[in-house]
Amino acid sequence: MVYSVLVMLKLWNSLSRTREAFGPLEDNSVRMYCCGPTVYARAHIGNFRAYVVWDVLKRMLEHEGYSVTHCMNITDVGHLVGDSDEGEDKMLKAAREQGQTAWEIAKTFEKLYIDDAKKLGIILPEPPLLCRATDHITEQIKLIQLLEDKGYTYKITDGIYFDTSKFADYGKLSGQRLEEKQAGARVEANPEKHNPSDFALWKFSYPNGRDFDPNQDDESTRRQMEWESPWGLGFPGWHVECSAMSKKYLGQPFDIHCGGVDHIPVHHENEIAQSVAAYAVPLAEYWVHSEFLTVDSQKMSKSLNNFYTLDDCINRGIEPLALRYFYLGAHYRQKLNFTWEAAQASQSALNKLRELSRTWVNPTDEKNDINQGWNEKFFSELRDDLNTPAALGVMWEMVKSNIPTEQKSATLKEWDKVLGLNLDQYIAQTVAIPENVKQIASRRWEARNNKDWDTADALRMELENLGWSMEDSGTEYKLKPKIS
Ligand code: AMP
Ligand code: ZN
Repeated sequence: MVYSVLVMLKLWNSLSRTREAFGPLEDNSVRMYCCGPTVYARAHIGNFRAYVVWDVLKRMLEHEGYSVTHCMNITDVGHLVGDSDEGEDKMLKAAREQGQTAWEIAKTFEKLYIDDAKKLGIILPEPPLLCRATDHITEQIKLIQLLEDKGYTYKITDGIYFDTSKFADYGKLSGQRLEEKQAGARVEANPEKHNPSDFALWKFSYPNGRDFDPNQDDESTRRQMEWESPWGLGFPGWHVECSAMSKKYLGQPFDIHCGGVDHIPVHHENEIAQSVAAYAVPLAEYWVHSEFLTVDSQKMSKSLNNFYTLDDCINRGIEPLALRYFYLGAHYRQKLNFTWEAAQASQSALNKLRELSRTWVNPTDEKNDINQGWNEKFFSELRDDLNTPAALGVMWEMVKSNIPTEQKSATLKEWDKVLGLNLDQYIAQTVAIPENVKQIASRRWEARNNKDWDTADALRMELENLGWSMEDSGTEYKLKPKIS
């Protein structure tokens, strides 16, 4: 096989629609913003594909010597059911269905998101860089005021809107001109809007920003998350938080903006419009968008009810890190179809990798023992727009090669800083078999040889409960720790 060695990280930039050599705006530091979860429900494994992709990107940037300031928002308010500004508030809907307050719903699912992300080996930013929309209402109001001062807004009965016809570059990211966007827009639900692509910056709780009125408003539909503003009582439109918080924590422009491909035509287009209109400089230099996880070729989504959570995987014997391995098996700009067979194959591959790496010896010097030839091949693939499937291919070639095992250990440890599969726990880690486990195994072997199957089965179960499995092969047996 012939490898070309890439020395610079190249990334596909959705904004220029080309693969560009990456260079940060300032020295060796990279400022990166990722659109985070909407915490009205548990994130599914489709959502987590995106978060794993961005985690690999962040780890790779760190490997390349950059110090990364990573900011991610938690959308805990005002995200409506449709991508437009119509429909019911997702948080309120979940609150009603689950008999909790909207605030409780947001808290519950934020915690679950953070727990699941950790299990998947995702290194999330710490607060304040992991930032909630509800903690930044003042910043969002200020941004809207600035847009108002500059003449980009107008008021209608249900809120303050951004006038997209006043922003010349509207549609640049998705490659659609305003007229095309308008022609393609679905039947417009809000006739007061000046252009179909206009979007809400501030939504009123009640018409024209008035307060709740028990004589005309139904108590059961009363908003639970609302704030005073110069325009009246309401809540921010869902694109505003990203513009306001990225500006606060990263400045503008920053280096890399990540999101899912579904964010290109609406959410990111609108973020750009707000931020550039407000501050007259670009929002971000590189736009990295990850493709969908699909089921039977359809996007995995809550609305199609074709989704699985991390717990569904765990309950079917697929570890979170095996799922991470599965994600890495596809390029982030390609759709990836989820099946239980494919997930199981990833679990088996990961188990095999762990078992093989257990048999190696520890490096004498972790840095010097890294095999430079293999190392270049591996990182060359990752520098090629994060080609993780090719990098995994190189990994297996290295693992099966005949270089000394201390080199394999050192090299794989280095690679795992980017892969994030937690292989340190396994590489060159032989496990001492506890005395009681040895005794139960020998009793089971005896029962088996005496064809006392009931006892043999019961003892096998005992071993399983202790976290060990017993593999029989004719005249001998092997004890293996079950991998957690
Ligand atoms: P949401 O909470 O709906 O805003 O989604 C969070 C992130 O998950 C967004 O970046 C979406 O693009 C992404 N996402 C949603 N569904 C999928 C999917 N089936 N596969 C990959 N990413 C997804
Ligand atoms: Zn965003």
